[in-house]
Amino acid sequence: MGRPPSNGGPTFRFNASEVGEMEAVLQGHHYSVPSREILDALALRFSSSAERSGKVEVTWKQIWNWFQNRRYALRARAARQSAPVQPNMPAMPQHDQSVLRNVAQAPHPQAFHPKEAQPSATTQSVGSNAPKNSLLEFEAKSARDGAWYDVAYFLSHRAIESGDPEALVRFSGFGPEEDEWVNIRRHVRLRSLPCESSECAAVLPTDLILCFQEGKEQALYFDAHVLDAQRRRHDKRGCRCRFLVRYDHDQSEEIVPLRKICRRPETDYRLHQLHA
Ligand SMILES: [Zn+2]
Repeated sequence: MGRPPSNGGPTFRFNASEVGEMEAVLQGHHYSVPSREILDALALRFSSSAERSGKVEVTWKQIWNWFQNRRYALRARAARQSAPVQPNMPAMPQHDQSVLRNVAQAPHPQAFHPKEAQPSATTQSVGSNAPKNSLLEFEAKSARDGAWYDVAYFLSHRAIESGDPEALVRFSGFGPEEDEWVNIRRHVRLRSLPCESSECAAVLPTDLILCFQEGKEQALYFDAHVLDAQRRRHDKRGCRCRFLVRYDHDQSEEIVPLRKICRRPETDYRLHQLHA
């Protein structure tokens, strides 16, 4: 996992036939990221095509990024279908820290229902809004590139005398060779949420967001802050608004569409207010 370029070079794009092939693979894998072997095979095949051979080498990481990003988009759609916003929900930001503390102490923390993981004081209100049978899902920040990745499993945890406890994380779509020990307090949190078009009003200046930064070599999800929001009239393609963001890791600024933004679960209460 190399550090992505931040100099705003040309953006890598898959062509239509490559996208078609990856769509088929994603469907065949029931919308989970395929194994490294399959990603490698796709990278090799794409790189040796007539269009790319000798010019552009497609890496497995670029392909992994495509799958990851596509999954985010599909998850947003699935979430909208299965969990309509309930209009009368009280504003109730979730408390990541209390959830995470429970996770670190549990034997199989990857499988959590909100009712078991939340302190009883918040279970009633938060639980009633959660889709039934849903699991809490986490993302973790990789020390290798500073980007956030979905957590597949928490494999272990350990106390550190001098600081915060750490968890050994298996990243979703990656193998054991990419496992990392991460600081639970600072680098593990509830997953950020992809935004549907109707949710753009919940993205406000000064917000911390997870933003998809596309570079020449790869595209990754990084922490960023919203500096400004240009609201535009939506059309049948959905949200046309534009957001000026500044990435935390390199201080670069970019104007991005809503589809590149994942908002923090703490902003859920705004949606409830909007729909009230
Ligand atoms: Zn919008």
